[in-house]
Amino acid sequence: MGSYSAVAESIVPFLAMEVMERGVEMARAGKQVIQLSVGDPDFPPPPAVVDEVARACRAGHTHYTDSRGVYALREAIAADCLRRRGVEVSPERVVVTSGVSPALLMVCRLLIEPGDEILMPAPHYPCYPNMVIACGGRPVLVPTRAEDGYVIDVERMREAITPRTRAILLASPANPTGAVQPEAVVRHLAGLGVPILSDEIYDGLLFEGVRARSPLGLCDDCFVFDGFSKRYAMTGFRLGYVIAPENALRPLQSMQQNFFISAGHFVQDAAIVALEQGAEHVEMMRREYDRRRQLLVAGLRKIGLAVPRAPTGAFYVLADARRYGSDSLALAFDILERAQVALVPGRDFGQAAEGFLRFCYATAYEQIEEALERLGAALQGTERPVAS
Ligand code: PLP
Repeated sequence: MGSYSAVAESIVPFLAMEVMERGVEMARAGKQVIQLSVGDPDFPPPPAVVDEVARACRAGHTHYTDSRGVYALREAIAADCLRRRGVEVSPERVVVTSGVSPALLMVCRLLIEPGDEILMPAPHYPCYPNMVIACGGRPVLVPTRAEDGYVIDVERMREAITPRTRAILLASPANPTGAVQPEAVVRHLAGLGVPILSDEIYDGLLFEGVRARSPLGLCDDCFVFDGFSKRYAMTGFRLGYVIAPENALRPLQSMQQNFFISAGHFVQDAAIVALEQGAEHVEMMRREYDRRRQLLVAGLRKIGLAVPRAPTGAFYVLADARRYGSDSLALAFDILERAQVALVPGRDFGQAAEGFLRFCYATAYEQIEEALERLGAALQGTERPVAS
């Protein structure tokens, strides 16, 4: 086999996907696997969205569109932005993409010269560092702590800024911590004079406390990433967008034309319907996630997996499993084999989360109950001796 580029060789597997894929393989072999791994809602999309897909396909909306997206969708996204963030943006500043993932990759490609640095709090979404590395950059991780509710230490972030820093990348609510950053933190970060990349894919998935403040409108150099995967349970539609500063639009358009051409037409039609008619469905899902969150946090604590502060947003719990082993990858695969429960090893989210396990509760309540029972049985009597 030939060798491949150093960059390609340095992209590490996305462990959430690895565990999920192994779980699917086991299910194919007849095992009753419970998936608490990838952040993929078990709910269908809003019913009107499904109807719209059929209508749009019948109407022949099965072709390419403008690379930046159908204008009516860009208008609907701008209206949604005003509604949710209280910030008015022109539809021209919206670039529609096939999920948040390609939007993140294009913006990394836009900003990074070889050796440039992107700062991000850790634990972090696994793909962020890999995207930065793929674009020739260097991810710089700024640790946060469970005991502090994963609130970003603004001073530490400021100290990490160097002449090579091109942006700060953050998500609030966050994956994997479910943490929401206080408004004061967001304001501080927006005032550091560094571009902000704000991944808002979990905006609105909030169960207690105050809604996250978007940095949009707080600083000029702000890119907002958002999409339909999580809030509307439309992961398989592959649809997202970036709201970008004006001078970034032309290069982003060129990249989109060359790399991806456009998102699918009928998928974009469906997204307009999600924005216009999906609110009730979103609220129904949010309420059910909250029920599951409470079940999961209480259940994990009972088993002895520490959750110092209950997450307030997104649909994940990051639990401290160090009582049961310091190697989270080995522990997650051991649990998968013995209990047939698919979880994500903390290592996926950086060294800061090694020894932790991430549980996704976008899975039915009864499945979570069953998973907790299996987990309790599998872990019983396997505690490591406490180091003196
Ligand atoms: N950003 C975060 C923080 C995520 O958790 C995910 C998916 O888990 C993504 C982006 C990817 O989203 P999309 O499905 O829109 O590509």
